[in-house]
Amino acid sequence: MRVSIDVDCCAGHGACVDTCPEVFVIGDDGYAEVILAEVPDALIDAARRAARECPTRAILTDG
Ligand code: SF4
Repeated sequence: MRVSIDVDCCAGHGACVDTCPEVFVIGDDGYAEVILAEVPDALIDAARRAARECPTRAILTDG
């Protein structure tokens, strides 16, 4: 599964980093960045949860 951030939607509060820090970080600009665009199997559930729980729906997945 691949993930990306819609930077126009991200509010930068970091809930995704709390949920799945292996995949998401807050960058120098204060918004989320993906550091593992191709999510390994072991992290798919956490990455999906981060996407589901993102209050602005800024996390995009292909699976
Ligand atoms: S949870 Fe959503 S809005 Fe918040 S930092 Fe992560 S991507 Fe941005």
